[in-house]
Amino acid sequence: MAEFTMELNDEQKEVRDWLHGFAADVIRPSAAEWDEREETPWPVIQEAAKVGIYSLDFYAQQYFDASGLGIPMAMEELFWGDAGIALSIVGTGLAAVGVLANGTEEQIGTWIPQMYGDANDVKVAAFCSSEPDAGSDVASMRTRAVYDEARDEWVLNGTKTWVTNGGIANVHVVVAVVDPGLGSKGHASFIVPPGTLGLSQGQKFKKHGIRASHTAEVVLDNVRVPGSCLLGGKEKLDERLARARERDRKDGTGRVKNAAMATFEASRPAVGAMAVGTARAAYEVALEYATTREQFGRPIIDNQGVAFPLADMRTRIDAARLLVWRASWMAVNGKPFTAAEGSMSKLFASETAKEVTGQAIQILGGNGYTREYPVERMHRDAAIYTIFEGTSEIQRLVIARTLSGMPIR
Ligand SMILES: Cc1cc2nc3c(=O)[nH]c(=O)nc-3n(C[C@H](O)[C@H](O)[C@H](O)COP(=O)(O)OP(=O)(O)OC[C@H]3O[C@@H](n4cnc5c(N)ncnc54)[C@H](O)[C@@H]3O)c2cc1C
Repeated sequence: MAEFTMELNDEQKEVRDWLHGFAADVIRPSAAEWDEREETPWPVIQEAAKVGIYSLDFYAQQYFDASGLGIPMAMEELFWGDAGIALSIVGTGLAAVGVLANGTEEQIGTWIPQMYGDANDVKVAAFCSSEPDAGSDVASMRTRAVYDEARDEWVLNGTKTWVTNGGIANVHVVVAVVDPGLGSKGHASFIVPPGTLGLSQGQKFKKHGIRASHTAEVVLDNVRVPGSCLLGGKEKLDERLARARERDRKDGTGRVKNAAMATFEASRPAVGAMAVGTARAAYEVALEYATTREQFGRPIIDNQGVAFPLADMRTRIDAARLLVWRASWMAVNGKPFTAAEGSMSKLFASETAKEVTGQAIQILGGNGYTREYPVERMHRDAAIYTIFEGTSEIQRLVIARTLSGMPIR
């Protein structure tokens, strides 16, 4: 197991500086434009692919970094550039991780490259779990996957919502119910290959923030996929379902409601790192503004009323990063989250991003409220962190349940 360290090694520093350069030179300058256009920034993704940032290799390298700092460092830098564009760049990673975590070697080798495409023909992927009536309450999922044994095919029906890259993805990873009697233990994940009949994009959402990232409904109407598209394979699924049924028969605990609350524990620090990136970006703009803007004949930072919030902002950002890095190190090294440290990091970092970006607007006064300055956009973007990958309330629920062992509602 790697020792926990806050010190990046030379190689990590080099990667961080390279990412920062891309965020500063390519992402940040085009952030306002893509926010206004509310479209996927394909040219920026292509640029990221050309330099190797948008690629499976890069993502896997950071994902498997034993220090645990690879992914949070990368997320912080890219989201420092702009949250909407960065999500368009890393959104594919959510689907890729779904395949890496549950797929066979053959599935990983077949599908992940198709998720990314190549620098001359970039593709994106989507991870489809949420539904209109199953957001926080994942166990209420209705999308059904039924096995057609005669044709060795799965038939998927249902509607997914809020899907990042939904409908524009080359490869969709869809979570569906295979055994409705088992709650979220009866779910399985499927690859829907490019061009599969029956999958279509529903409405595309017009959003408050991260507007450069495409979010839409995905409709599955008698979508037939080969048996080989079940992630992990049929044998493994049958074994898992049999174990869950057995536990259910013995003591009723096989039916784990809201299992996703715990399942995402390991991936939550990455969202925390995105929030740290947005918070840091807004803090830096506010600090610079406070030292140069003069009122009453002196820089506004000369007033404690401006300086102290900046002190608080920086303290919270550093504390958030510490929580994120700790949780990420624990996840990579297989340390059990005995106090829901993954949820803790996401909760604190996302609330920090909302707080810090709001405070940044206040420090910039009227300018902060306009689209001439980026903090207004950063504040709109920051609101997503307390919602996706588990809302703040769900994080608190997970932490409270983990600490108390009580079925708190
Ligand atoms: C921009 C964006 C991108 C997204 N991308 C994806 C994606 O790629 N793939 C995907 O599958 N999903 C995605 N989502 C969905 C996201 O994960 C859900 O929106 C989120 O899980 C919350 O679900 P919900 O919106 O249905 O809210 P609800 O679950 O309806 O919650 C509404 C409110 O009630 C609170 N609440 C609910 N239950 C409880 C409880 N037990 N105790 C206390 N409070 C509670 C919530 O905290 C929240 O404040 C995305 C969402 C957005 C907005």
